[in-house]
Amino acid sequence: MGKEKTEWTHREQVMMDGVSYEVKAREAMGGFYGAWECVICNDRGESGLESTTAPQAIERAKVSLYAHHILIHRSTDAGELSGGP
Ligand SMILES: [Zn+2]
Repeated sequence: MGKEKTEWTHREQVMMDGVSYEVKAREAMGGFYGAWECVICNDRGESGLESTTAPQAIERAKVSLYAHHILIHRSTDAGELSGGP
């Protein structure tokens, strides 16, 4: 745990099957970095790669969040798994 301040400069609410998640992005060295925190299980995820723009970081974090949602929180009813990168 460092003393580094995390200042999220971009935030976006994402609705998935009635659950509202928050995806956020901040500037990192040489790019942008996206992350999300699950409101249901408090798990956290990241966009992984550095992105060149904040919206790109948000999009990448969304992909990661989407995978988490599908894997952990989506009921097993036959829903469409549309979308993707
Ligand atoms: Zn979760």
